[in-house]
Amino acid sequence: MTTAVAALIVAAGRGLRAGADAPKQYRRLGGTPVLCRTLAPFLADNRIGTVLVVIGAGDAPRYDEAIGHLPKSARARLASPVAGGETRQDSVRAGLEALAAIGFTGNVLVHDAARPFVSIALIERALAASAQHVAAIPALPVTDTVKRIDAAGLIEETLPREQLVSVQTPQAFAFQPLLVAHRAAHAAESIGFTDDSAIMEWAGHRVATFAGDPMNLKLTHSDDFALAEQRFARSLVTRTGTGYDVHAFADGDHVWLGGIRIPHSRGVTAHSDGDVALHALTDAVLGALADGDIGSHFPPRDPQWRGASSDRFLAFAAERVRQRGGRIDHLDLTIVCEGPKVGPHRDAIRARIAEIAGLRLDAVGVKATTSERLGFTGRGEGLAALATATIRLPEPE
Ligand code: MG
Repeated sequence: MTTAVAALIVAAGRGLRAGADAPKQYRRLGGTPVLCRTLAPFLADNRIGTVLVVIGAGDAPRYDEAIGHLPKSARARLASPVAGGETRQDSVRAGLEALAAIGFTGNVLVHDAARPFVSIALIERALAASAQHVAAIPALPVTDTVKRIDAAGLIEETLPREQLVSVQTPQAFAFQPLLVAHRAAHAAESIGFTDDSAIMEWAGHRVATFAGDPMNLKLTHSDDFALAEQRFARSLVTRTGTGYDVHAFADGDHVWLGGIRIPHSRGVTAHSDGDVALHALTDAVLGALADGDIGSHFPPRDPQWRGASSDRFLAFAAERVRQRGGRIDHLDLTIVCEGPKVGPHRDAIRARIAEIAGLRLDAVGVKATTSERLGFTGRGEGLAALATATIRLPEPE
């Protein structure tokens, strides 16, 4: 029988050093919460039967929002989150106790949520090490010369670099000995351990090492985020989508264009509110995602979209981009009609589209033209819109 494996992801830190209002594990990296990036490779490994996140007190709404970015199938594999404690040590113990409460036995990988670049290969090495050792941790040789300093910052000694390693997570342990060590440290009021292997050392276990990954960066300071964003940006590819929509005029006294209600001598025939601008933009974004079209996500036969306000269609498409870890760089729109006059409403339309798609105003272009009285728009039989969306998406693995 293969040994059961659980992954315990420690996400209870307040992340104050990273210099933002939200804890760092909930900040976005390339559009996706750090926590989701961290979880994804663990959730993708079927040998890991249980994935449990320890979260900070009061962070449940942030957690729920964050995991909403994961595909449904991945989300379904997550155990209910557990509330952590004051320190990292308290939080890990809370997670271990939760696993103990469900009768877990086997091996556990403990990983910091603030390391979102954990690779499948590193998890692989951790799993292999956990099959052989009671405790094993990823380690890297120290390449800088390391010195010990006094309180005044003066060098006291130069340490022998060849005997030093820097260590990371995921750290792999046999569950029961780790639980016992944590309980013992708690009972002895031994605190201040910065990783779990230190607790195992304290409890008298030998801790093995395996090869760490220099790319497995820990997000600690604001600069780390800037670096991580840069690294992430390099793996995004630009994609472009186009959209086109038409609605026929009918009796009425207004039309909707770009989420703005514009008084007019006619209305439009439509199942929804008939906003050609938002429909064309939605299709442009879905086109860039290669993710169907507005009709496939919101079937016109479905009565729930009758008279629907079209802002939800564009907001949905924009959210699909974010869920894929991408971002919308630019939306461009051309409205074609003899009337109503778009000019007086252009600024309001731009602002509304930016708001719906979650973009800055300068990322939205709105233009209008007549068709010189030619064709159906020229004869005033209806109005049309063309749109282009430029987005960036993570390169497929
Ligand atoms: Mg339409």
